[in-house]
Amino acid sequence: VTAAPSTDERLRTVEEARAAVLAAVGGPVATEIAFLSEALGRVVAEPVVARTSLPPWDNSAMDGYAVRAADTVGATKESPVRLDVVGEVSAGSAPDVEVPRGGAVRIATGAPIPPTADAVVQVELTTPLGADGQPAGPRGRDASGPLPPAVLVHASIERGAAIRRAGSDLAGGTTILKSGQTVTAAAIGLAAGAGIDQLPVHRRPRVDVLATGDEVRAPGRDLGSASIPDANGPGLMALVEAAGGHAVTLGIARDRLEDVHSRLCAALADGADAVVVSGGVSVGPYDVVKLAFEKIGRIDLWRVAVQPGKPFAFGTAEREDGSRMLLFGLPGNPVSSFVTFELFVRPAIRALAGHPSDRLLRPIDRAILGEAVTKGQGRRAFIRVIAERDEAGSPIRDDRGRVSVRLAGGASGQGSHVLSALAVADALAVVPEADDELPAGADVELWWLDRD
Ligand code: AMP
Ligand code: MG
Repeated sequence: VTAAPSTDERLRTVEEARAAVLAAVGGPVATEIAFLSEALGRVVAEPVVARTSLPPWDNSAMDGYAVRAADTVGATKESPVRLDVVGEVSAGSAPDVEVPRGGAVRIATGAPIPPTADAVVQVELTTPLGADGQPAGPRGRDASGPLPPAVLVHASIERGAAIRRAGSDLAGGTTILKSGQTVTAAAIGLAAGAGIDQLPVHRRPRVDVLATGDEVRAPGRDLGSASIPDANGPGLMALVEAAGGHAVTLGIARDRLEDVHSRLCAALADGADAVVVSGGVSVGPYDVVKLAFEKIGRIDLWRVAVQPGKPFAFGTAEREDGSRMLLFGLPGNPVSSFVTFELFVRPAIRALAGHPSDRLLRPIDRAILGEAVTKGQGRRAFIRVIAERDEAGSPIRDDRGRVSVRLAGGASGQGSHVLSALAVADALAVVPEADDELPAGADVELWWLDRD
């Protein structure tokens, strides 16, 4: 008979751990004004209002002739009306002619509509006439040649035809971006189109990344007989950036409390919003990261019922001004650090960056496992899987919309050290705590990962 574990020893569920992390986040980081070129992927902090209407003035939707619609009444293919071409207006220049009765002004797409014109006839419905009054080219000739003295119009044109009215896309003063919205490429185009060159956004949360381990060397360095390249440092830096953070490296610390602690102190002094440490968080004799967390701040939780990633630790450190730095201790095995980053660090970075609470986690999908899986008792497993895809690259779904997935790296790919399997995975499939094994064909939750 084993005694029931005390509360302190009980593993936290994924939800409990994430709730503790997000509770410590408090609120988003401060707002700044960013040029559009720096704004992609960031979160709008205040409503943004259009400076100009779109279009700013009535303009032509077609290359053709600005006319008075009344002059074209009754015109047909066989019996066109003849209009005198009195001038031209190109995109980028203000019209210097009016359209008189019986007249037309050649106009380019996007050029302002001259006064008194109330429609544009597209060039395809016209025939240019020469000085002799004879057709100077085929009907519908492109409008790039010399300005003809007159044109035939082969259709009756409605008032307003091919005119894009001022403000028809957007009225000046309209709110175009709301707070909490992610700045997408289209949002940047919209803001620029509305005459705005800077946006109020949350700054990128600064996240410092520290690898630990006496055996860990910067990639490319000589390994001797007992060292390994640092996979976690660069991998976590990239994950931070992909999550919307500003990643700063703290290098590789020795397995010594003083070394880890002094680097954490540097991050705290530099104003980091969070530090992500990998390795040294387990129960080995050299696992000093938890001690370093306790020395600089405090530990809120340690050990989560998750596979891989059980030794995950989380805490906070406070600065004199009351601001906080989040402390993430991720297990050293690269897949464990990746999975715990996904589960706990990425949502925290997104919350710091100002994303609303319903936008912190990955969109959840459903999948069918192609192979049986086994896992540790009582822990929720996040297994690395590859979606079966059709020739167009789309995931193959069954009649209930569930994606077919297979294990990344095959049967031996699920070890928490197997980076090669992680790198080919395009999603995590979730095996619940209660299931020690799942058969092929089991229905599981699926978290898509970033994919190019
Ligand atoms: P630890 O959590 O420090 O006990 O490390 C667990 C395993 O992960 C050990 O095999 C370490 O060598 C390995 N490991 C720790 N840090 C890294 C790193 N930055 N890159 C690659 N492997 C690591
Ligand atoms: Mg270690």
